[in-house]
Amino acid sequence: MTVSIALFTQDLRLHDNPVLHAARTSADQVVPLFISDPAVEAAGFAAPNRHAFLADCLTDLDASLRGIGSRLTVRRGDAAEQTARLAAETGAGSVHVAAGVTGFAHRREVRLRKLLDDRLHVHDASVTVVPPGRITPAGRDHYTVFTPYHRAWQAAPRRTVLGAPRALRTPDGIGSDTLVVDGPTSPALPPGGETAARARWRRWDVDAYADVHDDLAADDTSRLSPYLHFGCLSPTELVTRALRHDGPGAQAFVRQLAWRDFHHQVLAARPDAARRDYHDRDDRWHHDEDEAQAWRQGRTGYPIVDAGMRQLAHEGWMHNRARLITASFLTKNLYLDWRIGAAHFLSLLVDGDVANNQLNWQWVAGTGTDTRPNRILNPLRQADRYDPDGAYVRRWLPELAHLAGPSVHRPWLFDGDYPVPIVDPDFLGDRFRHGRP
Ligand code: FAD
Repeated sequence: MTVSIALFTQDLRLHDNPVLHAARTSADQVVPLFISDPAVEAAGFAAPNRHAFLADCLTDLDASLRGIGSRLTVRRGDAAEQTARLAAETGAGSVHVAAGVTGFAHRREVRLRKLLDDRLHVHDASVTVVPPGRITPAGRDHYTVFTPYHRAWQAAPRRTVLGAPRALRTPDGIGSDTLVVDGPTSPALPPGGETAARARWRRWDVDAYADVHDDLAADDTSRLSPYLHFGCLSPTELVTRALRHDGPGAQAFVRQLAWRDFHHQVLAARPDAARRDYHDRDDRWHHDEDEAQAWRQGRTGYPIVDAGMRQLAHEGWMHNRARLITASFLTKNLYLDWRIGAAHFLSLLVDGDVANNQLNWQWVAGTGTDTRPNRILNPLRQADRYDPDGAYVRRWLPELAHLAGPSVHRPWLFDGDYPVPIVDPDFLGDRFRHGRP
């Protein structure tokens, strides 16, 4: 009886899972394994919101595996050591894992390779649609600008979507740990897991996406980001299914998934971009902890910014347009270091993702891949455009419910109780308050 291990990382699903598929076709029995690695916690990445969501994902994955005759083994400890130990315990002849893009994933892979040698099989088209490095511009190891990347990405071949296994045999008698979740979580987190992800995907209408994706009050984007982050859904399956619709909604949605791949290929090539400026613009960031705290707590005096920050605290999620506005306000209007904002987002976002979060922050801050690094998203103009009736702001700031229509975006004209704007409204959009250019 041959045995293989499917090491789950950011691919917590049965459908379209190349790792599980390869493990199943290479041996008679498969050990589905997830390792809770304290190094992730030590790096500050296991924020309570994501940890709670992850616990849901693992419970759901275990239930689905039990439905096909298997079960999930959870181990706690160093990922490479625990995997090698389980391989020795079960006599596994192969270990399958998805390629990751973070520095942590690279190091894990190197250590796994050292311990398992050619028993390790790394599958690269699992976390992204097009694997990092598969398409490159002439003479470079990755694309630095989205538009040419997008063109090449659209033309790149995609692998065939794999079905979920109907049966899986797993050796008996393997001990499993439980995942311990602690710390306060946001009150309105979405449920984690592949079952919830597929239900959300079935309910959501991609056709309307092109028209509504920037409408803050409509709140009608897919909200699939946490499921994509943990791999409860395969991006390849989403793209393949969305393109069957062949309308502007599907095209716009698929384009966002190309952005996701774009950031992943940047981080894979430059893992240090998680912390360091991708493009050094010689920034001398302003330091003001009171302003940073007002931003974190949603007390900037700009309701459109404050509403976004309240949504983040309550749901562990924020609408993309609100992420752009709040991030631009921190980095361009307050001219505070993007790392302050990125760290706060990562402490709460249920979809918090090193590639997408750090590189979107860098894009907004102008240290990343934006070809117009000095653009400023004027929060008032953004509010008038993307929340024209003020409904999004009133939803998150009930204390302003008495201000009708767009007047809610400028409470200083009508209301003495709301915090005074921490940046003079006359200086929004014209220039950085303290620095570049
Ligand atoms: P949809 O609009 O339905 O898009 C579908 C999917 O495409 C998303 O689920 C996501 O996987 C991907 N996507 C959409 N926009 C982007 C983008 N700009 N970059 C990369 N992928 C994208 N996304 C994260 O998944 N994790 C993060 O930590 C994260 N941090 C961000 C920080 C800032 C400052 C900004 C401006 C954006 C950030 N994003 C992040 C990107 C984007 O805001 C979210 O992916 C999106 O809002 C999630 O909602 P949705 O699933 O409804 O997206």
